[in-house]
Amino acid sequence: MKKNLFILFFIFLIFSYLYGQKAPKNVILLIGDGMGPVQVEALSYLKSGKPAVMTQFPYHGISNTNNLRDSITDSAAGGSALSTGKKTLNGHVATDENGNPNENIVEWVSRENNMGTGIIVTSHITDATPAAFYAHVNSRKEHEEIARQLVFSDLDFVAGGYLNYFLPEERKDHLNLLDSLDIRGFTLNTSIAEMNNAVAAKPFVMLSEKYPPKASERESWLQNCMYNAFDCLTRHTNGFFLMVEGSQIDWACHDNDFDHFADEILEFDKAVQIAYEFAMANDETLVVVTADHETGGMSLDPAIKKVKKKLVSQEVGKYVTWGTKRHTGKPVNVYAFGPGSELFQGEMENTDIYLKIKNLLNRKH
Ligand code: MG
Ligand code: ZN
Repeated sequence: MKKNLFILFFIFLIFSYLYGQKAPKNVILLIGDGMGPVQVEALSYLKSGKPAVMTQFPYHGISNTNNLRDSITDSAAGGSALSTGKKTLNGHVATDENGNPNENIVEWVSRENNMGTGIIVTSHITDATPAAFYAHVNSRKEHEEIARQLVFSDLDFVAGGYLNYFLPEERKDHLNLLDSLDIRGFTLNTSIAEMNNAVAAKPFVMLSEKYPPKASERESWLQNCMYNAFDCLTRHTNGFFLMVEGSQIDWACHDNDFDHFADEILEFDKAVQIAYEFAMANDETLVVVTADHETGGMSLDPAIKKVKKKLVSQEVGKYVTWGTKRHTGKPVNVYAFGPGSELFQGEMENTDIYLKIKNLLNRKH
């Protein structure tokens, strides 16, 4: 009897060790908007053959990006799949096909786990991808309504562009959302210096009044935001969820502009490096890198006659060619590091990424 009890206790110890090991305290989700597998391959050529940081992660998978009805998603449906675990129609921001809100991960981790939450993007803060993490609207074009919902969201750290959507003189309804932000405990920073000097509990960091600048004109804004987000979010004893988007990878690929793409994806690689270093030192952080869809139908080939092309890599003689100025239905890659990262292997749906993160965080209870 005593021996059986001992064996049972031993089995319990092994299970609780294995089980407990896999639950991350913090989650960092990095989204390269429009970043298909070829874009990641191009990144390694741009680094003169050095691998992209994400490809150094131990676990890799493939995510299908189709939306509820179509094989080709936009960033609203794609972002919503990642933020809510439910597929929807293009244009919908975290609402189902009938317009009912689908709970997003920021709402869920705040309510269930009392975790800190943040988003950092290099686009308008009200753009479809970030909006899917705090707003519920049936049209991604409702920027002023999305801005209004951001003020009343559960977010603790917000960084992105287009401050004008918050200013009464710029809004159609003349609401003063800056006053509302203040009441909600946010502190507005409009420069890197301001942000670095502030010790605000809830920083609201704005990159631009209107259209956000390209990577070549942002200096180290994104990296600085990440360090500030870590300072702010690690104060939450129950851990944090942070979403970081390389937003303009998509814009550059829509324009078939390889130089702009290069700047954006190299900066995104640095953002992944910062998340990776944080997770290495912290030991309780899951880092997941993926994309909402591929943009541009990018391919890298030897020189093809009569096709407009640009040399990407002298060493391997690769040229970039573009198949479209729109999104494609190609699957995208998923890369994971940290506790629970082994779940992100093989083929999955974009909605599975949300479900896997949620299941892992559920284990904390
Ligand atoms: Mg986006
Ligand atoms: Zn796009």
